[in-house]
Amino acid sequence: MKVLKFGGTSVGSAQRMKDVAQLINDGERKIVVLSAMSGTTNTLVEISEYLYRKNTEGANDIINRLEAKYRRHVDELYATDEYKKKGLELIRFHFDELRAHTKDIFTLFDEKAVLAQGELISTGMVNLYLQECGVNSVLLPALEFMRTDKNAEPDAAYIREKLDEQLEQQPDAAIYITQGFICRNAYGEIDNLQRGGSDYTASLIGAAIKADEIQIWTDIDGMHNNDPRFVDHTAPVRNLHFEEAAELAYFGAKILHPTCIQPAKFAHIPVRLLNTMDPKAPGTLISNETELHKIKAVAAKDNITAIKIKSGRMLLAYGFLRKVFEIFESFHTSIDMICTSEVGVSVTIDNTSHLAEILDELRKFGTVTVDSNMCIICVVGDLDWENVGFEAKALDAMREIPVRMISFGGSNYNISFLVRQEDKKRALQALSDELFS
Ligand code: ASP
Ligand code: MG
Repeated sequence: MKVLKFGGTSVGSAQRMKDVAQLINDGERKIVVLSAMSGTTNTLVEISEYLYRKNTEGANDIINRLEAKYRRHVDELYATDEYKKKGLELIRFHFDELRAHTKDIFTLFDEKAVLAQGELISTGMVNLYLQECGVNSVLLPALEFMRTDKNAEPDAAYIREKLDEQLEQQPDAAIYITQGFICRNAYGEIDNLQRGGSDYTASLIGAAIKADEIQIWTDIDGMHNNDPRFVDHTAPVRNLHFEEAAELAYFGAKILHPTCIQPAKFAHIPVRLLNTMDPKAPGTLISNETELHKIKAVAAKDNITAIKIKSGRMLLAYGFLRKVFEIFESFHTSIDMICTSEVGVSVTIDNTSHLAEILDELRKFGTVTVDSNMCIICVVGDLDWENVGFEAKALDAMREIPVRMISFGGSNYNISFLVRQEDKKRALQALSDELFS
């Protein structure tokens, strides 16, 4: 069985819900994970903010407006009076639930329950629509099987067991619809998997049922091999290794967060990124297969600061790097790239909120220089060190561009360059020309 996940924009209007229903109704049994309609979770967060501030009037105002919007969606979605009525009952039920949280002191638990309504409504709506179309669709209540443990990590054994039970109760269904994002915690309270967590839900369900494939449906045609905003003639990447996808994730490439795909990666379940606007397009397949001797993609990240610490004391000394890294750790600043020589080390950071304090501390250990407005350019593909020529090719593409740092060998899948932000476009284009044409 496959698991298909559709995000907020894919179910963002009555029409989009109908499109999704058509797309999933192909006679194959499947589990469909849905987000809340786009904008809804943000609105629920806003409602919670009013309630935390004890502004019931403000909260009710937004609740009423949101409800009116949903009543219009219902009117547009269903054709028959019977289902329009069922749809309105669904909306009333969940908005009564929302209003119940405006009556008393508002806690973190209330907020979690409020946030859960978005996915509960969208899945209820699509499920009813499929039933109106004559499809044997059933709801799998995520709150009955999706759970985190005492460390707030998904409880895989519990999820597998409870999900199996749910599936066994309804063996004849053609389509199972379930809520992304929402779960219960170890104490049984309503919780969630953090914003954007529906991808995580899909991955966890895929791993739990040993799905044939997990499909993440969005509005773009999979991953591209370079940033189309800066480079001409980019092309979709058809296959990516999970590790390659993880390398690219940092660069804000429209791809899953590494933690989200981990369950799929460990269970060896391929993840396919597909486009609702062009459902026939092949998209991008992420799996544990490496395509040998292939460079896949180039990505860039701006607003990087490079810091160099040079010290004669570093020569042949141990413990120097630890002292340097501890300074970053104590200011909760993560390091992205590192390059070392015998007498110095350069690192990059993208969070500069404690830069001044970090520099103050670092000056105790050596001479410190800072380059800001830099950009990491990352080349991803089969960059196993034993393959010859691939690093050389990437380096050769950069021959006209001043390069501040080069990082290679940290993984088998990546080589990164640090350049000035103003050289980014040129660097991306040069790499595309050299590597992909
Ligand atoms: N609805 C949730 C959010 O907006 C979860 C998701 O869409 O993945 O963050
Ligand atoms: Mg999302």
